[in-house]
Amino acid sequence: MDIVNNKRSADLFSKAQNTIPGGVNSPVRAFKSVGGTPLFIKSAKGAYITDEDNKSYLELINSWGPMILGHAHPAILEAVQGAVNNSLSFGAPTSKEIDIAELICSMVPSIEKVRMVNSGTEATMSAIRVARGFTGKDKFIKIEGCYHGHGDAFLIAAGSGAVTMGVPNSPGVTEGTAKDTLLAPYNDVDKIEQLISENKDEIAALIIEPVPGNMGLVLPTNDYLKKLREICTREGIILIFDEVMTGFRLAKGGAQEVFDVIPDMTTLGKIIGGGMPVGAYGGKAELMDYVAPAGPVYQAGTLSGNPVAMAAGLAMLHHLNDNPSVYTDLAAKGKKLVTGIQAALDRKNLPYKVTLLGSMVCLFFTDKEVNNFADAQTTNTEKFGKFFHAMLDNGVYLPPSQYESWFMSQALTDENLDEIIAAVNASLDSIEA
Ligand SMILES: *Cc1c(COP(=O)(O)O)cnc(C)c1O
Repeated sequence: MDIVNNKRSADLFSKAQNTIPGGVNSPVRAFKSVGGTPLFIKSAKGAYITDEDNKSYLELINSWGPMILGHAHPAILEAVQGAVNNSLSFGAPTSKEIDIAELICSMVPSIEKVRMVNSGTEATMSAIRVARGFTGKDKFIKIEGCYHGHGDAFLIAAGSGAVTMGVPNSPGVTEGTAKDTLLAPYNDVDKIEQLISENKDEIAALIIEPVPGNMGLVLPTNDYLKKLREICTREGIILIFDEVMTGFRLAKGGAQEVFDVIPDMTTLGKIIGGGMPVGAYGGKAELMDYVAPAGPVYQAGTLSGNPVAMAAGLAMLHHLNDNPSVYTDLAAKGKKLVTGIQAALDRKNLPYKVTLLGSMVCLFFTDKEVNNFADAQTTNTEKFGKFFHAMLDNGVYLPPSQYESWFMSQALTDENLDEIIAAVNASLDSIEA
């Protein structure tokens, strides 16, 4: 990266490291996997983000999903500005919390009751606690490469060779915690059956990103999700769809609507707050009535249901619910972008795999199918890093990691898409020169 042209970001990054671990408040922002200096952002509007050096980029991060309508959407800003005048927090119930709960239950019909929290991490931690409390069982199945936030029980990876019992992949996660997290590869039903027979009547839940977007974007094959539903029903295992990323993104009812598979519980985040810190978990009333104060499973939050955050979330969800054309528009934009990317790669004769679902996109440099995390790990991440920086030089800001989905926004115009495709062509020319 050209440090001179990004002087202010470079200075800020160096200053940030004195008082913030690694200079950032969430690791992927640091550009570690692609190298170089992260851009410090000053503002954003529509499809563009502007950094501290006053350079603007077309962007495909959109705050990792929430800005599905583009940045600084008037309907959401107005709702927030209206709410702010009534004070920022009460620590007491408000009518807006009922409004958003009713709207979520109508958009995602498998959710009969819902509890608001402040992040996706809180949502998944709480959902697992409810599943364990309800079933009286400790173990749960997690899919390798799926990300469910930074709760201890989820920070478990397979390591080399398939292991039945997880090993922690972060210091600070105890082996005691890790031993209750069972791992299976995505798109592999046999492994799930094996785990179940080895841990008969000990498994509370199976949690999965129905369409994983945290190992790059990987799609389900061969009725995988339907089979998981059948197995969980047969075994009395609570099926939790972590739709923090896919919820309100793939359709107003999320991946469960797209694939017509009904989970017992769902976790939500990202879009649900319209850019404010919000998460939620919900599901069958019988399960959710286990949550305090209705039931014995404790979960609380001083700022949960925060009135300003609820105003932003409500404005976002109302907009999506009232304008179903958002999803058809976004799907058309996705198709156009991917068609352009494929033509560019074909022109260079490069091996690649592009995945697309609605407005989620991913480009892997590989000649193999990518159906699970192990496949994703064999792709050429070094080439991705070069491509990322070339795109930045060409004015397009992609997620700074191979293992992230790209998120499109409604603010991208046809002309913007042509610009991005031109940037892909120019970037491939420069890295393949
Ligand atoms: C982002 C994400 C989370 C974590 O949400 P945070 O708000 O970052 O805590 C959990 N699950 C999935 C699928 C995610 O994409």
